[in-house]
Amino acid sequence: MKYDVIIVGAGPGGIFSAYELTTIAPELKVAVIEAGTELKKRRCPIDGDKIKSCVKCKSCAIMSGFGGAGAFSDGKYNITNDFGGSLYEYIGRKTAIDLMKYVDEINLAYGGEGTRMYSTAGTSFKTLCVQNKLKLLDASVRHLGTDKNYIVLENLYKKLSKKVDFFFNTPAQSIEKLDDGYRVITKKGIFEGANCIVSVGRSGSKWMETVCRDLDINTKSNRVDIGVRVEIPAVIFEHITSELYEGKIVYRTEKFEDRVRTFCMNPNGIVVTENINGIVTVNGHSFEDPSKKTENTNFALLVAKHFSEPFKDSNGYAENIAKLSNMLGGGVIVQRFGDLERGRRSTHNRIEENTVTPTLSATPGDLSLVLPKRILDGIIEMIYALDKIAPGMANDDTLLYGVEVKFYNMEVELDEHLETKHKGLYVIGDGSGVTHSLSHASASGVFVARRIAEEND
Ligand SMILES: Cc1cc2nc3c(=O)[nH]c(=O)nc-3n(C[C@H](O)[C@H](O)[C@H](O)COP(=O)(O)OP(=O)(O)OC[C@H]3O[C@@H](n4cnc5c(N)ncnc54)[C@H](O)[C@@H]3O)c2cc1C
Repeated sequence: MKYDVIIVGAGPGGIFSAYELTTIAPELKVAVIEAGTELKKRRCPIDGDKIKSCVKCKSCAIMSGFGGAGAFSDGKYNITNDFGGSLYEYIGRKTAIDLMKYVDEINLAYGGEGTRMYSTAGTSFKTLCVQNKLKLLDASVRHLGTDKNYIVLENLYKKLSKKVDFFFNTPAQSIEKLDDGYRVITKKGIFEGANCIVSVGRSGSKWMETVCRDLDINTKSNRVDIGVRVEIPAVIFEHITSELYEGKIVYRTEKFEDRVRTFCMNPNGIVVTENINGIVTVNGHSFEDPSKKTENTNFALLVAKHFSEPFKDSNGYAENIAKLSNMLGGGVIVQRFGDLERGRRSTHNRIEENTVTPTLSATPGDLSLVLPKRILDGIIEMIYALDKIAPGMANDDTLLYGVEVKFYNMEVELDEHLETKHKGLYVIGDGSGVTHSLSHASASGVFVARRIAEEND
């Protein structure tokens, strides 16, 4: 099967590469190879009734398939260089922002119209943060919501499937370099293309490592964020979420000067589990549809951990911590903040009597047996710091779910075109280690598509 461009991975990076190629270079023959299924077939078996927790499917429907890890996400597209990746370091700040705005326009045109754009510009909340040793990061946030995000993906698929050959349930096994391009080997066949865009996200990170090893591409990996997901009554954070939707707040701990941050805020949302390479961790969702809204808000509190030589396996470190919670709780553990502070585990009774009703059925337990002291101390300090700007945050009944991990893919050595040392082989999105978000991953896809179109002109 011969193509001009082979895209591996149909997450936002791959989708936006395909979108841009079909728009500006319709003469190019494009194939998208995806390990997961098409969008409408993506179903997580957890139904809350017969199956209450993760059954560790071989290919996780939440992480894989058309739409990638972002398909059932809250659809928050952050237009900023302050977080979400370091794309600007490769392509420049202005280009990065322009591309994120372009992606936003496409999302609106394909079903996101009418959704709200939040902004930190001019908010008085920034001052309140500074006064309490917290820092609010700058961003504009388009909140599509899980339901609208899905509609946008459906519409994009309708458009793309007419022009692009999609191969689902087709994990790429290896990539070989040819004299005039690349050969992508899968169980379902061999694909050859003059250009290859690899966009395999977090779920493809282990495979990405083997590709880099086979093709002698340098990588580095030294960062991981570890923490918990907090669930509180929505009213406690309402003054923040109603104005900003998602406040990205950073705190430097007094004890260790570690960086703790809020991440992935879901006003009136639910806490969910996530299966990463067979390890169950925690995450959150929220919905635009008023009937699906809950009385709780959830977000992660993550402590950044950077390792220095000789240790190289930052993700392995976090995986082992998450495995501990899986070992003790059979999955995700939930604990009341009051129980954590008193040095005792939470029990079913205490969770049942709690004034905050959990939106995820997790095992009551003791997070201090799972998280390293330094990380736990940072989280507790941050909870008290947030309590000053959102009183009620440090209540006994605040729920903490663990473990939440933000894995950073190893960084692949790329040039300013996101091209590897092999001409025509590009690595984009979260799988490259350059991006960690929907908007940055999508923007990187458009960027590379334009480069390929230019080269083929
Ligand atoms: C629950 C959840 C909520 C999130 N919410 C947000 C949010 O609100 N805002 C935000 O900015 N970010 C959010 N994120 C992160 C965001 O989804 C990612 O940053 C984004 O999806 C990265 O896009 P990507 O294309 O690089 O990779 P992915 O979306 O991970 O897509 C990669 C695709 O490649 C496929 N693949 C992997 N290996 C292979 C292989 N060997 N062969 C073929 N295919 C392969 C995978 O199946 C997958 O479909 C969330 C993530 C999760 C899990």
